[in-house]
Amino acid sequence: MRYILKAILLIYLIQFSNLLSAQTYKKIDRVVIDAGHGGKDPGTVGKKSKEKDIALKLALKVGNYIEQNLPDVKVIYTRKTDVFVELYKRAKIANKEKADVFISIHCNATTSPNAVGTETWIIGATKGARNLAIAQKENAAILYEADHEKRYDNFDPNSPESYIIFELFQSAYREQSENLATLVQKQFSTRLHRVDRGVKEAGFLVLVNTTMPSILVEAGFLSNPAEEKYLMSEKGQNEIASGIYRAFKEYKHQMEQDDMQAQMEAVKRDSILAAEKKAKANVEAVAADNNQELIFGVQFMTSKKVFTNGSAELKGMKDVWRYQDKGYNKYVSGRFKSIDEANTYAKKVRANGFSDAFVVAFIDGKRISKRKAIKMMNK
Ligand SMILES: [Zn+2]
Repeated sequence: MRYILKAILLIYLIQFSNLLSAQTYKKIDRVVIDAGHGGKDPGTVGKKSKEKDIALKLALKVGNYIEQNLPDVKVIYTRKTDVFVELYKRAKIANKEKADVFISIHCNATTSPNAVGTETWIIGATKGARNLAIAQKENAAILYEADHEKRYDNFDPNSPESYIIFELFQSAYREQSENLATLVQKQFSTRLHRVDRGVKEAGFLVLVNTTMPSILVEAGFLSNPAEEKYLMSEKGQNEIASGIYRAFKEYKHQMEQDDMQAQMEAVKRDSILAAEKKAKANVEAVAADNNQELIFGVQFMTSKKVFTNGSAELKGMKDVWRYQDKGYNKYVSGRFKSIDEANTYAKKVRANGFSDAFVVAFIDGKRISKRKAIKMMNK
């Protein structure tokens, strides 16, 4: 039994190392960093700053952290300068690049100067006036696009009715998006001690067409003077960007580990199944092969019966095969190219309880006399 277990383990290790070298497990190595707004669309405007400028600085910093620390990851930016990019194009870029993750970066605003903190959004139903207001504010970016009625199927970002459609929307990436969003909020709240407004969902046009886990980060309120100051500062921007970077890194690690684990389990399961199947199969009958190869084995048993691999009668003999002769099955163990090896092995087989075991020679799947075999070898 230990032999079989060892074999299973070996197969498993070989397959697993092949798996690793082929890197068939899912890698999270393409990320789109989307700086909200830009160009003619300033986004939210604070007393001293514009959302588009802070979003761009944050996006470039996040991308830079990833590029510096995770060299296997390709960072794709939807914009790297102060230019206007249509919402639909942002998703299109991510889809075309087959990104694994889409991170859209924004800043918040509200009428109250006291509102404070960060929230990370995923696509979903828009529930409640507060959530609707945020989605409306972000989706209003399409109003800067000349042909937005046609492009977005007459979607009116300001009309609450427009958002009913999102209630029907089921994202295939909801779980992963939520996971990533949670990691971002965790970074902000535990490492940066920002006010945690949580992970939320609403109908964001920029997220609706992405074909990968996607989040929208509201990094803080420009309508809050203290928070605006923090968001404008180099220190604040570095902290926020490193928080998003760390969350992405953790997400990447989790996803890759999960996938590798699942694949390892699958390989293990397959190996065990294959071994079990083989163990239940009959001892293989020798087949004629055309390579004219001379082989030696040790014949140790004769029986009318066909035994299965690993059956008790074989007493744990390895690499067993059989040939038929006058209605009997003759059981042979081992395949050797040299008669000396076969002789050495025959001693072991005899010690294992098959005291009559002897060396046999085969060519092209047919038994030949030992004398003929030796003659052939000496040619
Ligand atoms: Zn925005």
